[in-house]
Amino acid sequence: MTEFSLIDLIRTECALHRPDVLLGIGDDAASIQVPPEQELLVCTDTLIAGRHFPLNTRPEHIGWKSLAVNLSDLAAMGAEPAFALLALSLPESDETWVRAFAQGFSELAAQHNVALIGGDTTRGALSITVTAMGFAPRGTILRRSGAKPGDVVAVCGALGRAAAGLHYLKGHPDCGRAYRLDPHRVGHQWVRHLDRPPPQIAQGIALRAYVSSAIDISDGLAADLEHVLNSSGVGADITLASIPGWGELREELDQDVATQHVLSGGDDYVLLVTVPPDRLDAARTALGAADATLHEIGRITSDAGLRVRDAAGDIIEPTTRGWDHFA
Ligand code: ADP
Ligand code: MG
Repeated sequence: MTEFSLIDLIRTECALHRPDVLLGIGDDAASIQVPPEQELLVCTDTLIAGRHFPLNTRPEHIGWKSLAVNLSDLAAMGAEPAFALLALSLPESDETWVRAFAQGFSELAAQHNVALIGGDTTRGALSITVTAMGFAPRGTILRRSGAKPGDVVAVCGALGRAAAGLHYLKGHPDCGRAYRLDPHRVGHQWVRHLDRPPPQIAQGIALRAYVSSAIDISDGLAADLEHVLNSSGVGADITLASIPGWGELREELDQDVATQHVLSGGDDYVLLVTVPPDRLDAARTALGAADATLHEIGRITSDAGLRVRDAAGDIIEPTTRGWDHFA
């Protein structure tokens, strides 16, 4: 296939009509209509084969994930996604691969009413850069910088599953009871989170009015919470046992491995928020209406730094937390 028939294939597979797309694929630039009183939010992320996904990942999953990681960034800002651009670098013109990729991409795009409005197609090592755009009413966006001492630290879903999925794919045999009974069922559930993370768009929008800061967890809870702490000039105390997902992974994996997955595994694409205590009930209700749950994992403190505590309240030292800040 030529470059232009590949673009045509992508355009056909990803066709989605939005009245605010004035010009889509086919001209030198796309043109979109920004509603008055709305902010346009823009983000971009690159996935490189072998680095951001295993080399043998199915193309439909790569398509899904390349959009999902960007929609997750929009979710963290409380934005509603609207458009995407796709810059694709391919080692060869493989119609079957591109069709499957575009199907995975468009499946997620359709769920969130995202129109693919342009991109670029080049030959090279497999790499995918998606740029996503979305809207939020002016003045309502969520940022990393608003956390205050006393705020509750919370996440919108289980952590560590994608990291456990990668661990499973790498063939690590140190898994527990349920895993030994039915390794593929358990392993495949984890790999599903690695391959097809569902971006938490509804959660971000529902929480707009109630949270003091937000970020999506892509590099692991500890690293991303530290971004919030640094941006906000505060610290945090969190309890390992209250992190959703940790109990489940501990059943299947060595405790230190489970700890490492939930604290620093990455690829979770779950929202991490801080909530002023007087808005906690309202935040829970708003999230419940979006069919989601707020899981409290700790508190913001005026003391800088992140402290992770075990069930007894003792601070877990960095060496046994499963991640190393000093590496
Ligand atoms: P130019 O050479 O002017 O950059 P291209 O030939 O690269 O234009 O692209 C032609 C049209 O196809 C443009 O509208 C561009 O946005 C779109 N396009 C190219 N590659 C992709 C892609 N991978 N996904 C979506 N649209 C694409
Ligand atoms: Mg071009």
